[in-house]
Parts: sequence; C-alpha cells; structure tokens
Amino acid sequence: MRPVFRGNSPQPADFHNYEDAKLFLVSRLGHYCSYCERYIATQLAVEHIQPKGLPAYAHLEGSWNNYLLACVNCNSTKKDKDVVFSDVLLPDRDNTFIAFEYTLDGRVTPSAAARKAGLEMFAHHTLSLTGLDKSVSKIFDENGKAVALDRVAQRLEVWSEAQDAKNDLDSDPSNLLAQDVTTKLAAARGFFSIWMTVFHDNPNMRNRLIDAFEGTRASGCFDPVTTLPISPASNPDKLPHGGKI
Ligand SMILES: [Zn+2]
Repeated sequence: MRPVFRGNSPQPADFHNYEDAKLFLVSRLGHYCSYCERYIATQLAVEHIQPKGLPAYAHLEGSWNNYLLACVNCNSTKKDKDVVFSDVLLPDRDNTFIAFEYTLDGRVTPSAAARKAGLEMFAHHTLSLTGLDKSVSKIFDENGKAVALDRVAQRLEVWSEAQDAKNDLDSDPSNLLAQDVTTKLAAARGFFSIWMTVFHDNPNMRNRLIDAFEGTRASGCFDPVTTLPISPASNPDKLPHGGKI
C-alpha cells in the first residue's frame, strides 16, 4: 500500500463541503485509491479515515487531516467501521509499503517486516477494513472471457503487465524510451506496490516510480539512493500514532 504525504491543509479553516477537498487531494496524492492503489479516473471519493457517519467523528467531516481518496469498493466496504489509529496501519502515517506483501496470485498480505515488528494484527486490520483480504471472484463476459472487474482480478492483470515491461527492459536496460513508457504505464494503471515489487532489483526504475506517483517521495518512506523503504515512517505530517512501521 503506497505511503503518501498529504501535507498542510490548503485552507486555514475546515472544509464546509468535504467534496471541495477532492481537487487538492488528487493534486497531492494522485488519481489513486489510497487503499487498493487502483487508478480511478472518475468516481474517486474523498474518504474520511475516521468515518463521518460515527457520532464520535462527526466533528471531523471537514477536517483535512482526516481525508484520503478511495474507490467505491474500498469506500463501501469500509463504511462506518471504527478506525482506531493505534491499531491500524495507514498510508498517511505509516510505511504501508513495507507492511504488506503483494504476491503473484493477486493477494495482499501482511509482510515479514510487519510480523517481525509485531504489527501483523494491525496490518490485518487495515486489509479487513477495506476488504483487501477478500479472495478473487471470477467474472466472465458473454463470451466466457474473464473480465477484471474486482480489485484482485485487476491486481493480477497489472502483475502481468509489469512483468512484461520488466522482461522488455531486461533485454535493453539502458533504453530510456522503454523506461519512460513503463513509468507512464504504471502511473496510468496504478498499483504502485506491484510495480515496485516487480522492479525490486532496479533502483533506477523504482526511483522513477516513486516520482511518478504523486505524494510518494514526500512521504519520506523511501531512501532516495537505494529506494529501499525507510522504517519507521518519518511521519512528516506528525499525525497521531504515525510511524508505527
Ligand atoms: Zn480502492
């Protein structure tokens, strides 16, 4: 899960209408769901981390620091579930890249690093919050062709695209045009963590990817030279319970 830096609120007061924050959030974080990492051209929603539907958090409806961006699937699964910052890993305050492992079968699971840090349960909380631990559902069109409608199926598609791109680059590593095309394809498709995993042994491409996804470099979660994740996160926004991993 891509760690992000939201930065200071673009306005001094809370948002009267939280949807007015969307433009600023997209500018800072890109057109991606903050949880499942998909590129969402339309219907990307301002997501209240602590749900505005729970009375305890109703006062945070206009609060910039309570916003991320989410797709319909993640948003509707998360709904009004309580979010206790001390018990969950979140992309605006923790190094959520190192906390999860993306595997070829399309699954997302808590990583070895999360287990080693004793944070496996917190990582599970994050996945169940948005249903990212759900298994793949096979959907077929009228011709029997599998259609990638859900998040798992889309992860599988992007795995395949990223591996094809890597194979091409491996045959001509200094091809700047291929590097550029691959970076743009990644930015257009989303799933930052999959691209970073596929290019795990290529710091040049990883640096390109970190820069291609808005708000990632500024999270301070990646070493600028090695591109390895820095943990715990520096939590530059100084958010409560940030920097757990
Ligand atoms: Zn999503």
